[in-house]
Amino acid sequence: MTATSLVIGSSHKDNRTLLDKIQGTAAFSHIWKEKDVNRAISSVRTRPVDMIFYDVIDPARETYAWIHQLYADQKGCDVPVFLFARAGAEDEKIRGLEAGACDFLSFDTSAKELAARIRTHLEKKQQLTLLRQAKEDLEKQATTDGLTGLFNRRFFQRALEAEVARSSRLNQAFSLLLADIDHFKQINDLFGHLAGDAALKAIAGAIESSIRLSDTACRFGGEEFALIMPGTCGESAFHVAERLRRKIARLRIPELQEHPLTVSIGIRPVPAGDITDTTQVLAEADEALYTAKRHGRNRTEVHERLSPEGTDWSGTLSLPATQQA
Ligand code: GH3
Ligand code: MG
Ligand code: MG
Repeated sequence: MTATSLVIGSSHKDNRTLLDKIQGTAAFSHIWKEKDVNRAISSVRTRPVDMIFYDVIDPARETYAWIHQLYADQKGCDVPVFLFARAGAEDEKIRGLEAGACDFLSFDTSAKELAARIRTHLEKKQQLTLLRQAKEDLEKQATTDGLTGLFNRRFFQRALEAEVARSSRLNQAFSLLLADIDHFKQINDLFGHLAGDAALKAIAGAIESSIRLSDTACRFGGEEFALIMPGTCGESAFHVAERLRRKIARLRIPELQEHPLTVSIGIRPVPAGDITDTTQVLAEADEALYTAKRHGRNRTEVHERLSPEGTDWSGTLSLPATQQA
């Protein structure tokens, strides 16, 4: 058992007796003491505990604000709190329990009874922690692509809807980028499906390591990836795409015996004030992607409706030789 407990309170005689009883239960491998409740609660964030014992010096004046603070924090939300007082009227006990404490006991509770209560609440806490972990795992599975670890299409759809709404509400630009691996069927045929999977993972890694924290990268389908870039539009979006395209073309994947891998990219920039919806943004990014395929692959195309007058947005930007793939 590696459970840890925190005993908050002064070092008066009752509290020392309580500490002896807690130690006697052998439920905890670590017991630490803190006199100041606020300092104790803020340290729980960096030093997690499994159970808290609190000496209520004056039950009539105690507000239990610290319990609310503890439970508002993710790190403390499952921690059972035992309250102890020398004497307390029923109403005062009820207030403590309503604030979220699991139990309100008197200092003369026997060591045996205390041990039984601790055991019950520790077991409950462990079950709660397991359930919370299972829920987090399920949530992650529901939004993540198992092979690449990127967000899945289901998450992408929601993220795109949120971005379209956010951009129209705040009058801010964003871009949607779609990337599709070139001749991937051939790669599978030449090197096998497992090698193809390794290529998908390598490309996902390249995407993840090139994007901003505010960007959302997803595996959109089999060998297609999508990237939502809030605040990035026009030429900047094109530059992001080109950087990514060149980075992928430089990847050397051992499973493909260093056979080069390229992607074609389509972008639909959504400038501030553009009225659109997710279906249209997706369809237009897809059109740009298919133009990139038609024009020879391993290139980036921007949806043409948004090309500024006289600017050639299609194709590969001319870059200094050192930056080219
Ligand atoms: P294009 O350049 O026109 O995109 O050609 P392509 O061969 O990439 O396109 P196509 O749509 O003909 O083939 C896509 C291939 O992607 C076929 C499919 O077997 C492969 N693929 C889809 N999902 C996975 C996967 O999870 N793992 C592997 N290894 N291959 C996959
Ligand atoms: Mg495809
Ligand atoms: Mg393809």
